[in-house]
Amino acid sequence: MDDVAIVGGGPVGMLLAAELGLQGVRPLVLERLVLPSEESKAGTLHARTAQSLDRRGLLEAVGRSSGGSVSFHFSGMFGLDLGAVAEEGVSIVGSPQAWAEQVFARRAAALGAEIRRGQEVTGLVQHDDHVVLTAGGRELSARYVVGTDGARSTVRRAAGIPFTGTPARVAALMGDVRLLDPYGVPPGYTRTPRGWIIVWLNPAGHSRVTTYDFRAPHADRQAPVTPEELREAAEHVLGRPVPMAGARNLSRYGDAALQAETYRAGRVLLAGDAAHVHFPWGGQGLNTGLEDAFNLGWKLAAQVRGHAPDGLLDSYHAERHPVAARVLWNVRAQTALADPHPSVDPLRELFAELMGFEEVNTYLSGMISGVHTTYDVGVPGAGRMAADLVLKTGDGPVRLVELLREGRPLLLDLAGRDDLVAQAAGWADRVDVVRAAADHPADALLIRPDGYVAWTSAAGAGHPLADSLARWFGRPRG
Ligand SMILES: Cc1cc2nc3c(=O)[nH]c(=O)nc-3n(C[C@H](O)[C@H](O)[C@H](O)COP(=O)(O)OP(=O)(O)OC[C@H]3O[C@@H](n4cnc5c(N)ncnc54)[C@H](O)[C@@H]3O)c2cc1C
Repeated sequence: MDDVAIVGGGPVGMLLAAELGLQGVRPLVLERLVLPSEESKAGTLHARTAQSLDRRGLLEAVGRSSGGSVSFHFSGMFGLDLGAVAEEGVSIVGSPQAWAEQVFARRAAALGAEIRRGQEVTGLVQHDDHVVLTAGGRELSARYVVGTDGARSTVRRAAGIPFTGTPARVAALMGDVRLLDPYGVPPGYTRTPRGWIIVWLNPAGHSRVTTYDFRAPHADRQAPVTPEELREAAEHVLGRPVPMAGARNLSRYGDAALQAETYRAGRVLLAGDAAHVHFPWGGQGLNTGLEDAFNLGWKLAAQVRGHAPDGLLDSYHAERHPVAARVLWNVRAQTALADPHPSVDPLRELFAELMGFEEVNTYLSGMISGVHTTYDVGVPGAGRMAADLVLKTGDGPVRLVELLREGRPLLLDLAGRDDLVAQAAGWADRVDVVRAAADHPADALLIRPDGYVAWTSAAGAGHPLADSLARWFGRPRG
């Protein structure tokens, strides 16, 4: 019997496999595609994902990072500066999804994950102490199953987890085409009284063309898109012909905003698009899924290895469900603002003015890029991602992110607090202690494997370190 079976080897499934591997659990990944997909829906990773990837030494491998001021949009209104909220120098990362998936798959395999391709999971039955999956017509068992099998998740359905929210009202089409009059089409995001056309122009080759038609949602989400359909949609939105040829990578999608009501049902968990889907405003879907994987990996590994405290695995839903709910909320707001009806014009103008205020700009940029994500860890002043401090240790200077690469929790003693180090002795097998000097106001920090601060000495006497150690890492030994 496998400890963990991950159904769906997309980017989220592969990253989760790598995270489990880092914690010494060797998962089985079941992926229905025989070969990795070469199509990249997502191309943008945001600052919080970049921070998490940096804490695993994966940031450079996934794509090209940009720092400093980066202009970004809210509902197609440019004016946000993602650089204003980037905490560690990376404002955005250009990372084609298919490439990131391969990077994660290689890491997962190197850490002992078994990746089986051409294995479509068609059935799932839960028992008290294991789950039986049907894959490729054969049965196999695992102690835990994670569905990372995308928006139409078989795992979610088989586990009976409701996927609820708001239905689609917009029909989106996307394709790569040769524009025969490339300079007759406006580049970038264009809103007309009939919808949107988004063009990433490549005059000499294939340009990516996307249309948002607000008349009605797609009658059949699964129907193949024809080149003629994309051409007609572009003409409808723009109000004039858009000559094009050589269409490829055609796809259709909608703006349904749906979320799994629970991310855990017994021994079955969900992550990524299997847990939440929405319109791609702001490029937030994959980012949210990857952060799910960073949150779930160490918790599920602790559960499998038998040292998880009560409630640790359930804290995955408690922490991640609200994050995706907020993403769905901001995406719904962006779609409402994008409505092509002229009555929405003044609202957009007002919103654009508001975006000019620094506080509004920071608020929206922090939301889209994920850097405002904090978890309720029960300790005042804790719950944020630990900043990448430069630590002066007895062995020389080291960046905090480098100490997190092994995925082990850290007690950071920054003020020679022997009393705190002594309190952590019972967790020495699970929690590393690092004594250093750093430019930080707290005497000590307890940092989880996902890089979030679980406890800080600044919280005061009512919040003993031992309580937090037990809450996240189980009972002391000895
Ligand atoms: C046009 C567009 C642009 C986007 N841009 C961005 C962006 O810039 N940034 C961003 O963060 N997000 C973006 N997204 C969203 C992003 O693409 C998704 O959130 C992402 O693909 C989710 O990854 P995943 O691993 O959860 O699921 P998926 O990528 O859907 O992977 C699921 C995997 O499971 C496999 N599978 C499915 N069913 C089974 C089964 N029964 N058995 C075995 N295997 C199975 C599939 O073959 C697939 O490999 C965009 C989406 C769209 C549509």
